[in-house]
Amino acid sequence: MRKPIIAGNWKMNKAAAEATLLANGIKRDLFDVGNVEIVLCPPFTSLSLVGDVIQDTPISLGAQNMHWEKEGAFTGELSAAMLKEAGCKYVIIGHSERRAYFGETNESVNKKVKAALREGLVPIVCVGEKLEDRESGKAFDVVSEHVEKGLEGLGESEAVKIVIAYEPVWAIGTGKTASAAQAEEIHKFIRELLSKKYGKKTSESICIQYGGSVKPDNIKELMTEIDIDGALVGGASLKEESFVAMVKEVSEL
Ligand code: PEP
Repeated sequence: MRKPIIAGNWKMNKAAAEATLLANGIKRDLFDVGNVEIVLCPPFTSLSLVGDVIQDTPISLGAQNMHWEKEGAFTGELSAAMLKEAGCKYVIIGHSERRAYFGETNESVNKKVKAALREGLVPIVCVGEKLEDRESGKAFDVVSEHVEKGLEGLGESEAVKIVIAYEPVWAIGTGKTASAAQAEEIHKFIRELLSKKYGKKTSESICIQYGGSVKPDNIKELMTEIDIDGALVGGASLKEESFVAMVKEVSEL
């Protein structure tokens, strides 16, 4: 059985004091939740602080981006090894905001996924269509391309180590969530793609999260779908109360 992963993507929010406060609150409320993998992804400058707070708890640390090279003249970038050293277990790769505002492509996603795996980080690979793709009937094509190109060259032994986050761009930060049925349709499609590439057994071991305006009042409906294995949460992960409520909803399923 796949253990659900609830990851909070804090984006460019929560500098030191606020990050420490939020991480401490989450730790206090969730230290004994064992059946859900909890991941906090603060901005780079708060990684070590949050890492210190959650040390020796089951809560894991994740970063929001990385560079694929090991080192060098890449001003403003961080390598997988640097994230590992800061205590990260996970790294979000190819988030739609990075694709939209920072020129992230399927090719750069692929290089980053490989570099993360080489360093022993778990990449959370984001895929998902824009509103115009959905409206023109291209949602499946776009998601298929994101998966195929993002994972190009990965063998089965690497594929089992990744997490995929299906995040329809039209649902991110908009308050519009995909219905459970709409999300499940794409999750099932992704699992079938993975099954064709890596075999049924491997595809069934890969966690596929949903992301896009997930909140305490809609998480349960989404998580009861067979192929939805957790959530990547933006806005509702910024408040202790809502993040804790979501994790508790999932832990009680
Ligand atoms: C995200 O940033 O990955 C996300 C899903 O954001 P939100 O939950 O705010 O839609």
